Amino acid sequence: AFNANVAAAQDALNAFIVATPEKALEAADAVDAARAKGETLGKMAGVPIGMKDLFATQGVQTTAASHILEGFTPEYESTVSANLWKAGAGMLGKLNLDQFAMGSSNETSYFGNVISPWRKQGSNAALAPGGSSGGSSAAVAARLCPAATGTDTGGSIRQPAAFTGITGIKPTYGRCSRWGIVAFASSLDQAGPMARDVTDCAIMLESMAGFDPKDSTSLDLTVPEWTDGLDPDMSGRRVGIPKEYRMEGTDSDILESWDNGIAWLRDAGAEIVEVSLPHTKYALPAYYIVAPAEASSNLARYDGVRYGLRDLPDGANLQEMYAATRAAGFGDEVKRRIMIGTYVLSAGFYDAYYNQAQRVRTLISQDFKAAFEHCDVILAPTTPTASFPLGENSDDPLAMYLNDVFAVPASLAGLPAMSVPAGLNKDGLPLGLQLIGKAFDEQGVLNAGLAIE
Ligand code: GLN
Repeated sequence: AFNANVAAAQDALNAFIVATPEKALEAADAVDAARAKGETLGKMAGVPIGMKDLFATQGVQTTAASHILEGFTPEYESTVSANLWKAGAGMLGKLNLDQFAMGSSNETSYFGNVISPWRKQGSNAALAPGGSSGGSSAAVAARLCPAATGTDTGGSIRQPAAFTGITGIKPTYGRCSRWGIVAFASSLDQAGPMARDVTDCAIMLESMAGFDPKDSTSLDLTVPEWTDGLDPDMSGRRVGIPKEYRMEGTDSDILESWDNGIAWLRDAGAEIVEVSLPHTKYALPAYYIVAPAEASSNLARYDGVRYGLRDLPDGANLQEMYAATRAAGFGDEVKRRIMIGTYVLSAGFYDAYYNQAQRVRTLISQDFKAAFEHCDVILAPTTPTASFPLGENSDDPLAMYLNDVFAVPASLAGLPAMSVPAGLNKDGLPLGLQLIGKAFDEQGVLNAGLAIE
């Protein structure tokens, strides 16, 4: 049934880059066989999921939604996807995304925009599903799959989840192995689940996470049984409301939903306290230096020799082949990030930009540390607005970057953060609320999310 829905919705949503119905069926057959033999089944036994096309999948094209990787078929499997298959999940297909996970609306994909299944009341204009995990959010929101993988470097799980009324959690940096995930900004990249609710996210995260010696920043910690610890009772828990997140330019609908969230958590027994994260306003500029800097280094490997596309004009030498391949293979947003990244890393500007951004990053981590002396979990909006029509921000990169204003602080600090649905705005569009936890305290984040949902 899911395979049929994926095929039927492709023209309308463009959520998938390739469908792999046979993989989903194989997993279902394997579960049937294991059940017949009386074997214990994995936590995700028989669950068909969508895989963001940033995860390397053995024998299945992996593109990061870029022309430069078109036709690249990995000979290896990412650790996260391998963990999911081990737990019994099956793959419905590879999901569309912003090219190299750079974007907030899924408009930078070489394979075309993803279209949100939502519409504003009284309008048929196509809306952005958020980004970069826009294929994942659209597919789960449209119920093409019960769950999907996402990755979050500066909000790419949380913002699309908020835009489409689903739940998504970015765990503590290092919980999920980065091995086999196309690298964007390695010190920020983190995989996580996107699903219909908190419980499904907890089940899936347990299957994705775990120590991996192949990733040097992988956390060598046992994966907690988050599902066993799920409990929406907030009594004795303190919820911090960061005063600097009351920013100009935030929709009144968003502020109202934030107040609702405060009331729901108070009703669940929580004590509400105001906290301060004084360096919040520097988070976005610091992120847009650190992330492009790392990206410019990570993307140097796409040279026309090793993967996917090669553009070799007649009589071209090696340098000319690199240039031609990159010119043809990278999209505009990717080129913009590479140029920003190489600029802030260049000898003359390194101290002024890159080092300064790293210092800001430390201050932001310290802000959170200080705030968590006074609270157990932080509640904030996920985004400053609800979903917007496709095309509305696509030629204004700064307006697009502003979408990430509430998401990037937790990314810079490596903290677990989740977006949960929090009702609809005046136009009938979904809004999300964000819960940010202490490092390693996914349980606290999930439980507060459960109290809201
Ligand atoms: N929207 C942000 C960016 O464009 C975040 C991307 C992400 O988390 N992958 O960089």
